[in-house]
Order: sequence, then C-alpha cells, then structure tokens
Amino acid sequence: MRILCHAAQSLRNERGNHATKKPAKASVNLFEKDGAGYLVVHTEKSKSGKGEKFALKANLNRCLAKFVHEGKLTIEFKEPSVNIMISKADPGQLKKLLSAMKTSFEGKSLVGVGVLASATNKPIKIGKTTKINILSRDDYKTKLSKKAGIPAELEEFRCHGLGMKQIDLRLFKLRHLTVLDMTRNNLSTLNPKLFQLRLKALILSDNKLDERAFRPLKSSPIADSLQKLDLSSNQLTSLPSLCTLPKLSSLIIDKNQIRRLPARLPNSLTILSAKENKIFFTEFARFHRFQSLDLSDNPFSMLHKFKVDTSKIPVAKTLAQVAAAKILKHKLPINPQKVPTRLNSLLESIRFCPCGEPLSDRKFMFLSGYDVRRYTSNTDAVAPMPNNFVIPQLEFCCSSGCFAKFSTTLQFEEDPPEPGSDEDGMQVD
Ligand SMILES: [Zn+2]
Repeated sequence: MRILCHAAQSLRNERGNHATKKPAKASVNLFEKDGAGYLVVHTEKSKSGKGEKFALKANLNRCLAKFVHEGKLTIEFKEPSVNIMISKADPGQLKKLLSAMKTSFEGKSLVGVGVLASATNKPIKIGKTTKINILSRDDYKTKLSKKAGIPAELEEFRCHGLGMKQIDLRLFKLRHLTVLDMTRNNLSTLNPKLFQLRLKALILSDNKLDERAFRPLKSSPIADSLQKLDLSSNQLTSLPSLCTLPKLSSLIIDKNQIRRLPARLPNSLTILSAKENKIFFTEFARFHRFQSLDLSDNPFSMLHKFKVDTSKIPVAKTLAQVAAAKILKHKLPINPQKVPTRLNSLLESIRFCPCGEPLSDRKFMFLSGYDVRRYTSNTDAVAPMPNNFVIPQLEFCCSSGCFAKFSTTLQFEEDPPEPGSDEDGMQVD
C-alpha cells in the first residue's frame, strides 16, 4: 500500500517549539526489515531516492487521528523528535495505516497483512494530481500522455482554447472530478455521460452550444451537485429548466440569444449574469433575492400594449395544477427524478403572485416595473437599461384584491416615445 497525499514535517525542540516545513506532495508507505517496521515518506523534493525512514517499534509518542475521516493524520515520533502531518490522503487507506502502525509499534510483524510495500525506492508517482490545466496542444501531450493517462484522483480539469469538438472521454470515468472548464473550444454537442458526473462547477463559455445540448440536464446526477454553471458566449436561445438544480448558486449566460429567463429559479441562485441577450421582460418571483444581478444590454422592449391578456380567457383549473401550487405553497420536498414528467413541467411553470402565493392559474395579469436594486443585496447594482434600474416584468396575481393593490403600486412606467422614433419600439436587432 502506498498512500498518495501531502506531507509536512515539523521538528520539536526541548521547549516544545516546532519548525515546520511546508506540505509537499508525498507518497507514504510501510516497510519492514529484519522484523522491524518503518514508515517511509517520499516527497517530490526529497533528495535521497530512498526517502525518509522512521522506525515504528516503541517509537511513537502519539498519533492525532481525530481527522482521519478528512484524510488527515499527524504522527509524533520519539526519535528523531519530528511530527509528520499527512493531509489529502484517502481516509480508508489512512485508517489501515493507523492500525498497521499500532501493530508495528507493539513490535509485531506486518507480513501477510497486505499493507507493506516491497521496496523503499522512490515511487514513480508521488502525491496526488488534483488539478490539470491544458492551455496548448503540447500540454495535452505532456500532461495527459497515453501512458500516464488521466489521474483517477483528478478534481479539476481545465482545457482552454484548443478547438476541441468533444470532451475527452476519459474524464467521464473520474469519480472525484468537481470542476470541468472547457472555455474557448468548439463544442456544439455534449456527450450524455457528462451529465452523470457529480460536478460542482461546469464552465462551457465560448463554445457553439445551443439548448438542445442540455436536454438531459434536469433529471441527471449533475443536477444535484452543480453550484456554478457558465454558458456565456454560446448559441442558446432559451434555457433549460433550472429549478431542478437545488444547489445552483451562480449562473452566467452572457452573450447568447436568450429571449426569456425561466420564471422559476432555484432558491439557491444568488448570482445571475445575463448580459447581451435578447430579453424583453422578466418574470422573477418577488421574494427571490440576488447577491448580484446583471441584465445589461438587453432590449427590454416590452410595453403595455404588447401583452396578451389571458385573464379573460376562461380556463378550467386542473386538479394537477391545484396540487402543484399546493406543493410549492407548503414547500413539500419533491424529487424531480421520481415524480411524473407532467407534474415536473407543471411545477416548473408555476408563477408567484407578488404577495408570494403560488398560482394555480394565470389570471389578473399586468406589466409591472422590476427595480433590480430592490432585489439585489449588492449595493452597486448594474442598471439593465441606460441609467434605468426598472425593467418591464410580467406579473400575475392570486386575487382581485392583490391585482388592485399591486397593479397600482408596481405599475411599469413607460418612457414617453421619442419624437420620430419607431412607433412600436419592438425592434430587436
Ligand atoms: Zn396575492
């Protein structure tokens, strides 16, 4: 057993002071000679090919094992008086090491236990490679040669500006990958296996992706883990459903052709940047608060006269609609992977009255003004329109009472048309 980890060493002097060396990538293993056990530490910097050997028999002050479950362990040796601090190790391997060291400490042999490494020579691989940045074709050859492959423990992979049409298939096998960044490539489709990864951050800016690539998103493992999604500078005209991403906190979709933002956003979403799109109006829930919201360089050309008032059209509420609204009202936990697709899409389409009530139908519609400053905690909010923080937002109310109240207090105030300007003001391009 060889443990790939980080290791730091500190010297204890008579007064108990420690002089600590910085943690370095390391490989730690156990070795036995003439019946006596040793801990062997190789670091990238260690000059000797044999590494540093520490006898174990009756030579331990103590082991600080409180954080073994986090991959950390401190071992205090008597002679020499040093502490070895191990971090970023596999917790399972550390537990094995700990119990094997106890056996060695008591002077018993570890032969046959399956934890000894055969030699003390410097291993080929030292420490974990948790991050790889690829910035050129040469990088691809040297850092990911066919022989070395992609390290199984990789956590972050970035590959920028290489014109890649596909994501490297080997990445889909990684169990610890949490950040995948494919900025400035040539992706127009996405392998469905991507959505099986449990990523925290997916960065696909500056590619050729449209919404079709994200169809598998909402009912896949990635939906449960994703916290940051950057799809700026692509070819999206709409967005996939986002309310099934319970941890999403940052969404960057600048420089696309998006016309409408989803009405329902995950409660966790606090950063939204949708600059340079084709958005005419918003539909945000009034209770949603952003940390930062940037909607600059969108047309926001919705006017009162363009709205089609659906409130006069008689529509019978279905039981499912009523149920969906109740689910949201009482914040019942729903696993989108377990409920029927129809109920899911119903839940995604539910709007909220400015009073906060989820709506089972869409009556009492009006065009309100949405002042971005009121809904962002950031004090330096960006004006979505030139010198104007108020954008048109489509609003539905739960009752005639709410309609009477909010349609007066939140009414969108249109700018008077400029003399000589185009009458309908709906020009997009
Ligand atoms: Zn209401």
